[in-house]
Amino acid sequence: MGLPTHWRLKNQRYCLTGEVCRECGAKLFPPRDVCPECSQPAYEPFTFSGKGEVYSYATMYQAPEGYQAFAPYTVALVRLEEGPLVTAQLTDVDTDEVEIGMPVEMVTRKMREYGEDGVIVYGYKFRPVLAG
Ligand SMILES: [Zn+2]
Repeated sequence: MGLPTHWRLKNQRYCLTGEVCRECGAKLFPPRDVCPECSQPAYEPFTFSGKGEVYSYATMYQAPEGYQAFAPYTVALVRLEEGPLVTAQLTDVDTDEVEIGMPVEMVTRKMREYGEDGVIVYGYKFRPVLAG
């Protein structure tokens, strides 16, 4: 398998895909198949830009099982450019540097691990958008 194929699969798996309502154009994340704005079925897939800003956040000092290696960490409610709010962990930022309104973008990061040769789960997180 060549590198381009690998990248395509990876992007498919980790892009922020929700749905868009064909009736009113509302963009849904996570996908819920029914538009919260107009109650019409919304099955059209929509890929979000992954960009947004911190809407609110909380720093976790006591990590749940499987997340201890990452404590303390910050979980933020991110308002995407397209409108929806997404809960996700922040990465590449000190906990005391996080602030409301900070621009962030989605990245793929290791979410949990189960020891040296255990299962590693990947998923999306958000990191600050660097100025310039
Ligand atoms: Zn709608």
